[in-house]
Amino acid sequence: MAEDRLYGAIELGGTKTVLAIGTAEGRIVARRTVPTRPPEEVIRDVAAFFNDSGPALTALGVGAFGPIMIDRTAPNFGQLCETNKPGWSGFDLAGALERATRLPVRLVTDVGAAAIGEARVGALRGHQIGIYLTVGTGIGGAIVVDGSVPPALLHPEMGHILLQRLPGDAAPSTCRFHDNCAEGLAAGPAIMARFGKSLDHFAPDAPEFEMIADYLGQMCGQLVLTLSPQRIVLGGGVCGAPGVVPAAHRAMVRHMGSYAPAGVAAAGYMTTPALGQDAGITGALLCAAETMREPA
Ligand SMILES: [Zn+2]
Repeated sequence: MAEDRLYGAIELGGTKTVLAIGTAEGRIVARRTVPTRPPEEVIRDVAAFFNDSGPALTALGVGAFGPIMIDRTAPNFGQLCETNKPGWSGFDLAGALERATRLPVRLVTDVGAAAIGEARVGALRGHQIGIYLTVGTGIGGAIVVDGSVPPALLHPEMGHILLQRLPGDAAPSTCRFHDNCAEGLAAGPAIMARFGKSLDHFAPDAPEFEMIADYLGQMCGQLVLTLSPQRIVLGGGVCGAPGVVPAAHRAMVRHMGSYAPAGVAAAGYMTTPALGQDAGITGALLCAAETMREPA
């Protein structure tokens, strides 16, 4: 019976990797968190957890940091692209995981996994088109349509949407590519570089707090105009500071003016993840269950 099957899930993050075993419905029955180290060591941790942990598994779902090639038809499917994480550039993640676990592997981005988790069993459930954003050491985003992440050229890079700087804001961008993208102005490192402390040290009416909320609001406004999502979920450490998401919502509505589509100003249109820290690993688990339905 399909509902008796157990699946493996991996959330490969920049600093930590979550390993889990659970059901096709996303219920986690075992988990372990390990630091993300060079690839060979992570693969060793993966093999130890899944091969020694008892129950036979059906498939493995993986949400991985990028940039990574997730198009199954590409010759370099499953490989990390150029990254500044030591040892990971060009690493064949999907192949190494298949060899280590002898399981079929379904690969999505880390943000895509969290988006799928929220779309199917979290805050985006019941919405046909939603956006999941994570604002932490960088800004990542994914679109979900009917519970899945649609095919793409590589994957969206919403964090690099260009914004209008607020008057008087001359702080250097922390993005090495852009002077005024959302990530360079409002992600965790940008906040630390500007203010010397994280956003949760400021009151919601402090100008520092309002500045970051404004930039996040601008970014979301661009996404609303382009994709017309029915709801936006904002996760990650920066959005964990109390009041950030409502403040970004107000800023977005203010920037859009009377052009905002109906419903965009409604309470809860922009919200935090219902699954909290578990959005990514839950999404990876749900993806694992899909490998049975995919064409070979
Ligand atoms: Zn950028």
